[in-house]
Amino acid sequence: MSTVTARALVLEAPATEPVLAEIDVLDPGPGEVRIKVSASGVCGTDGHAIEGTHPMPVRPVVLGHEGAGVVESVGAGVTGLAPGDHVVCALAVPCGTCRQCRRGLAEHCNSPARRQAMSGVMADGGSRLRYKGEPAYPFFGVGTLAEYTTVRREQAVRVDPALPLDEFCLAGCGVITGYGAVLNVARVGPGDTVVVVGAGGVGVNVIQAARTAGASTIVAVDGVPEKLDLARKFGATHVVEASSDVAKELGAIEPDGADVVFEVVGKPELLTMCLGLTRVGGTCVMVGIPPMGARLSFDAFTVSANRRLLGCRGGAVVPERDIERLVALYRAGSLNLAGLIGQRIGLDDVFTALDALGRSSFARSLVVF
Ligand SMILES: [Zn+2]
Ligand SMILES: [Zn+2]
Repeated sequence: MSTVTARALVLEAPATEPVLAEIDVLDPGPGEVRIKVSASGVCGTDGHAIEGTHPMPVRPVVLGHEGAGVVESVGAGVTGLAPGDHVVCALAVPCGTCRQCRRGLAEHCNSPARRQAMSGVMADGGSRLRYKGEPAYPFFGVGTLAEYTTVRREQAVRVDPALPLDEFCLAGCGVITGYGAVLNVARVGPGDTVVVVGAGGVGVNVIQAARTAGASTIVAVDGVPEKLDLARKFGATHVVEASSDVAKELGAIEPDGADVVFEVVGKPELLTMCLGLTRVGGTCVMVGIPPMGARLSFDAFTVSANRRLLGCRGGAVVPERDIERLVALYRAGSLNLAGLIGQRIGLDDVFTALDALGRSSFARSLVVF
């Protein structure tokens, strides 16, 4: 093994312009693997890092967190993975040893070890990436907008090599978050009426997961007409323009209100509306990530009428478990990944994908290496 040089999208500090640059990707240390990245989605959270609205320390970061690739080399003590294995990069991974992990509640792990992994710092406190000779840190511990990356073994989930890596990379963030919101957090069931506010890269996955869970009425709300078309393709039974009186439109479809409403935008004022769209005893799920320091405001009686307001940290996923479930759904023909991809581009064109975030007519831009 020896250091590999790779082209990568580097953000020197939050709220600066990212640059395409060569980085050094060091050998994997104990319990780590180096991955040759095949493809990476460009997610809204990469955009938030660039805008400076994502909480992160001031230091160089290799962007990208929705990737898949082939294991190039493994460090000492790595079990269950070998060079040549196909892997999907997982974001937050449970530590496995804290009280919640020991109780079988790994999706609620909040240990210092988990937070360290998510901030791109290896178990020994270092980083395996170098930019201009100084440490750079992989976004969410994976940094997939790069030709190579070195990650913790737990952040590489092995998948059948027969699966298309250029579609399964999307399982790492947008898809798994949407599915987790439906299956792990809200637990949507057959016959449910579901409203999804925000039909972007995560929202359409909430829609297709709700359809898989048996929801009979799925109402998509968005301000972009093309996104409403996309929502229909992924299983929405009704679409509503965001600028309309959404409560009135929903009332015509389901007078009691929705069983479950998903807010997939991250705007506090939308969350107030979403809570108001639920029936008595209904559930409102916060999938969108609100800006740092945001406050919520709603009539307390809304919640006291048996309603539930639920948080949704990345879909409350346990990566190994949930990626295996996505593979099963894909094989059963009920998970559409190809339809999420609006454009396939090279790394050189990543800036056009970043510009299109939040206002494109499709769910995802995909960088293919
Ligand atoms: Zn993401
Ligand atoms: Zn834990």
